[in-house]
Parts: sequence; structure tokens; C-alpha cells
Amino acid sequence: MRFSANLTKSEELIEKENRYGAHNYHPLPVVLERGEGVFLWDVEGEKYYDFLSAYSAVNQGHCHPRIIQALVRQSEKLTLTSRAFYNDQLGAFEEFICKLFGFEKALIMNSGVEAVESAMKLCRKWAYQVKGIPTNQAKIVFARGNFHGRTISVISASDDESATKDFGPFVGGIVHVPYNDVDAFETLLKADQNIAGFIVEPIQGEAGVVVPDSDYLVRIKALCKAYNVLFIADEIQTGIARTGSMLASYDIHADNEDSKPDVLILGKAISGGVLPVSAVLANDEVMLTIKPGEHGSTYGGNPLACAVALEALQVVIDEELAENAQVLGELFRKGLEGIAKRTGVIELVRGKGLLNAIVINCTEESDLAWDICVKFKEKGLLAKPTQGNKIRLAPPLVITAEQIKECLLIIEEVLLDFA
Ligand code: PLP
Repeated sequence: MRFSANLTKSEELIEKENRYGAHNYHPLPVVLERGEGVFLWDVEGEKYYDFLSAYSAVNQGHCHPRIIQALVRQSEKLTLTSRAFYNDQLGAFEEFICKLFGFEKALIMNSGVEAVESAMKLCRKWAYQVKGIPTNQAKIVFARGNFHGRTISVISASDDESATKDFGPFVGGIVHVPYNDVDAFETLLKADQNIAGFIVEPIQGEAGVVVPDSDYLVRIKALCKAYNVLFIADEIQTGIARTGSMLASYDIHADNEDSKPDVLILGKAISGGVLPVSAVLANDEVMLTIKPGEHGSTYGGNPLACAVALEALQVVIDEELAENAQVLGELFRKGLEGIAKRTGVIELVRGKGLLNAIVINCTEESDLAWDICVKFKEKGLLAKPTQGNKIRLAPPLVITAEQIKECLLIIEEVLLDFA
């Protein structure tokens, strides 16, 4: 349908965002108004498979009825009290999340980046109060190619120029090592006694789904233990069943703690894409270094967030979404490998569970990956390039084998046009 000045409804809405909104994103030209499970619909009524899942926040599928019900039920009772008072949802959620992931304490925040900031603050407090690093000398190690969010302190740890250019000066006390390089990490630890922690993604999502060696985290954990350094895993994108198990760093059901982090950072899918909830989990030795009045957030741990997140996590368990991601991830990558051979457009297929990416046979500066995503959209599949020539493919984990097969056909049809 055409609207004023001969614009379609989509065009009109895109123009409005461009005119009145900050230009801090470059969205694909599609305007969405409804979602259910793995599907999204635009304002013209076109239906799409969602292969981004809001950057892995919607693992449970769009508008999951149980999560929406929890939202509605709680929103009619109590939404926000601040932490000036106790509320009847926070303790229950903290107990649930601590027991599920095997930690003594939880700190509930809102966005992912806030949880990363909180972990950095906890790491520094622990450095001074427990490890005994001299005041203001603590350092935190980050991997090159990382993505942990957008605040000043967190981008201080980024080596991506588009995230950092003209945002300086940056926060100090940050050191870099190459990702997936255990020897480089050990060299650093040997040389500097003021290292307090290593914050690392089990798989680098934004970098284009970079999967490290299978023993990487086990070796990192051993080194952290040997040098009395906190191993801090950012599972904001990899967590909550996305990579074929509840977490990518360790098995929550096993006794084995060989790769279990000292501090676990969660966000995104812990609330199923319904509202922003994040969490930092740690044991008392770390968490109790922060005292009343030293850290907080008005919305952090609000009853609405707690009710929604508890239900969202329970859905992941009840619907066995980790198992589904594991099985369908194999099927999907196998299909993509076949397409890579038949089209020659894909240089590399990589990923774990349903967090996957195809690296397109072109330079990072090329528009090819963008053009492919526009064509995917025209054929009913939504995905977005990351780091130029990589396309992340990460559907909601409620997707079925039949749907994966249908999507592989769409992907092949589009890529044949670019062959
Ligand atoms: N950490 C990782 C690994 C992420 O992938 C992201 C977001 O993509 C963040 C942190 C930041 O989360 P948020 O956008 O909710 O602040």
C-alpha cells in the first residue's frame, strides 16, 4: 500500500527513523511489526524467518506465550520498587539462577554491557581486597577482537576502530592478548603480578563467530588458577543454550569444573528478548567485596525482570532448547558446507550449536555480504553481516529440522545468484 508522497508504509517508517533517530545503526530495509516463534512479519504483512534472533536474545522464539504470560501477570502486580526495599521476586530468581549455574551469589543488572562493567568493578575490588594488588594498579586482560558492549570503560577494552574512534580518552588498566593464544596469556601473567582477571568470550560472536580450540578455556582456567587471576566468561551471546549446551564455557550438570569461570556474565536470552535483564554470577569471595552503596542500578533486579527471566530460563530447560540447538546446528552446518561447495560464494562455515556464520568469499570492505542479506530478505530470511564479509546465522532455538531445511534452500537459491 502506498502512503503520503508515494511512499510505502515501510519507506515512510524508515524515513521517520532516519529523520528523528540517531544514526547509530545501519538496519536492513525491513520494518517489523510482529513476531511469533521463528517468524517475523513486516508492516506490509510479509513473513520472514528470523536468522538473527536480536543478536541471540530471542533464543526462546518471539513472544513465547509462557514468557509473555509471566510478563503480563507480574506487570499487573508490581513492576519496580528499586533496591531501597526488598521485593518478593528477586530472592526467588537469585536462588534459581545461582543453583542453575552453580554459583553462590548473583548480581542482577539490565543490559549486557552493564553486567560487563559490573564484572570489571568486581574484578578490581577483588584485586585490592583479596589478591592484595597495590591501589589503582590492577589490570584486566581482554582478548583482541572482543566485543563486550558500548560504554566508555568497555570500549576501552576494544581494538575495533569503529567502536573506539573519537570516543577517547579511555579507561586504563586494560591489557590485550591475542584470542585463542594460551602461550601469550601465560607470558603476560609471568611478566605482570598486577593482573587481576581475564574477561573473555567462549566464542567471539560479533567478531564473526570465531570458535577457539576446544581446550582453550580449560587451559585458560588452569593458568588463572595458577596465577591467582579471575577467569571471567562473557556468555551474553553464547549462553542460554545458543551453542548447543546451556553455556559454552562449562557443563552445568557436570561435577568437573575444569573450564568453569570464577565470574559468569549473562544477558540477552536470560529474559527471552522480552525486556533487558543481565546478571553477574560469582562466589562469595568475589561478590561480597562490593558493599551496600558501592554499586547498583534503579531497575536492576526489578520484580518484572525477575519474573520474566525466571520463566525464560525455565522455558529453555523444559523445551530442551540446548539439545535442539546441538542437533540442528549439526544439520545446518552440514547443509551450509554443501552450499559452499556448490556455489563457491562461501569461503568458510563456522560455529557451534545454532551460533553460526558464513564467511563470504570477498574482502571485508566489499558490499557483497550486505547485498546477499538484502536478497535473503527478499526471499523471506533475515540476517545481517558482521565485520564486513561474515554473515551470522542464528535463528531462535525453537526452529525445527523442516524449517532449517527450508532455510537452507533459500540460502542456496540466493547464493547461486551470486556464484
Ligand atoms: N557481550 C557480548 C559477548 C555481546 O555479544 C554483547 C552484545 O552483543 C554485549 C556484551 C553487550 O550487550 P548489550 O548490547 O545488552 O549491552
